[in-house]
Amino acid sequence: MEKETRSYDADTCIEYAKIAQRFFADASQERVDAVVQAICRVVYENAEELSRRAVEETMMGNCADKIAKCTGKSQLIWHDLKDRKTVGVINEIKERGIVEIAKPVGVVAGITPCTNPVVTVMSNAAFALKCRNAIIFAPHPRAVKLTDYMMNLFHAELEKLGEPVNLIQACEICSVEDTQRLMRGVDVVVATGGYGMVHAAYSSGKPAYGVGAGNVQCLIDTGVDYEKVTELITGGRCFDYGILCTCEQAVMIPESEDKTILKAFVKAGAYIIDSEDEKEALRRAMFPDGKTINRDIVGKPAEFVAQIAGIKVPEGTRVIVVELQETGAKELLSKEKMCPVLALYKYQSFEEGVEIACQNLANEGMGHSACLYTNDEDHVSYFGERVNVSRIVLNHSSANGAGGNVWNGFTPTNTLGCGSWGNNSISDNFTYKYLMNTTRIGRCLDKPLELRSEDLIGTK
Ligand code: NAD
Repeated sequence: MEKETRSYDADTCIEYAKIAQRFFADASQERVDAVVQAICRVVYENAEELSRRAVEETMMGNCADKIAKCTGKSQLIWHDLKDRKTVGVINEIKERGIVEIAKPVGVVAGITPCTNPVVTVMSNAAFALKCRNAIIFAPHPRAVKLTDYMMNLFHAELEKLGEPVNLIQACEICSVEDTQRLMRGVDVVVATGGYGMVHAAYSSGKPAYGVGAGNVQCLIDTGVDYEKVTELITGGRCFDYGILCTCEQAVMIPESEDKTILKAFVKAGAYIIDSEDEKEALRRAMFPDGKTINRDIVGKPAEFVAQIAGIKVPEGTRVIVVELQETGAKELLSKEKMCPVLALYKYQSFEEGVEIACQNLANEGMGHSACLYTNDEDHVSYFGERVNVSRIVLNHSSANGAGGNVWNGFTPTNTLGCGSWGNNSISDNFTYKYLMNTTRIGRCLDKPLELRSEDLIGTK
């Protein structure tokens, strides 16, 4: 039974998804991979149209960067998934007599953020179908038409391949209540977004992968190429007008080099705020209730944010840099800012710089990501051991690096786990393997394991 028109409520979507998934559960690896490739390919081929629609409907971000994201991530995700075995026996450990067989988890609910409405849907659909599941998205209220358009593209591909279109669906209206009903009715929940939604996902009573807010702290060590580094940080901070959870939010710089580094930031297109009046105007414009970000400035260019705050900035300003003294809960601007505003702190010692990063993360973004520019391997270890995040991007841009890219080995994703620090179940880049059940066959070994009591109690 196939549905004839697209939008259904959560319960109907679940009913249809179950039927489609039962059919797909018997698919061969070749069939599965053809579907996954089609999901990624259709986003690559329609990158321009999808990006245009995303900007138009969400009123966030910019087309050029979204196109780059669609074409880059679609290729990366397919490259990472294409040779993975997810059907039948996927692993055999001879010496332990273990055989592992992959099984689907069933029907998945995908809750997506309005800040990343195309590639999050693409990658989580690809991960779900790679393991022979069905997926139902709860579109963000600000991305309903776009999600519907994407569903039509996916359905055309599924039809061409002779697969049930209900393997990928989106619910009709998605109020918070609808989303919660959907989460309670499926087998597994994948939730990408802010704290409220992640909390709701974990309260659904279903196994959930909820991943939360970022607040990427970026430390510049002495002795690096300041012009190159400030250009990378500025580019990351304003990519898609700063809405990615991986965008740089605060930078710690050595006080001994402050003049050179600030000059380099200006050269990269930054406007540096140093007057208390402008700082206060920015706080009021960005956090009008003294707590939550002003939705009107999210995903907007630096010049627009400056205008809302009543600050005059030169034409072509890419990023507003604001120097701060207080950290964490004592300073609103130390929080995640989903627009091209970068907090800046000066440190006396590397250790003090790391401490500033930790204090800001303790207030928001704990467990997500951080970024370090250094040539000192001891500093890499120090930073790695002290900063409680799930990924540290070393000497390249966090905005485009933390979710995996061609310059690093992070698993490509758009759903980044924040570990128990961020109240998440994984401290990893979310991927297909979390949407797979595994049956393990344990053969009786030819000879038993040898247990030696001295291993436990030592020799006297
Ligand atoms: P959001 O949490 O406001 O919304 C995400 C989705 O959840 C929407 O569809 C919304 O309607 C729904 N939702 C919200 N509260 C809910 C509830 N209580 N019950 C059920 N559904 C609910 O997020 P957003 O503003 O779209 O995205 C921005 C935030 O997400 C930022 O903090 C960003 O850092 C974070 N983010 C994290 C990742 C990651 O991979 N860790 C990726 C993208 C965005």
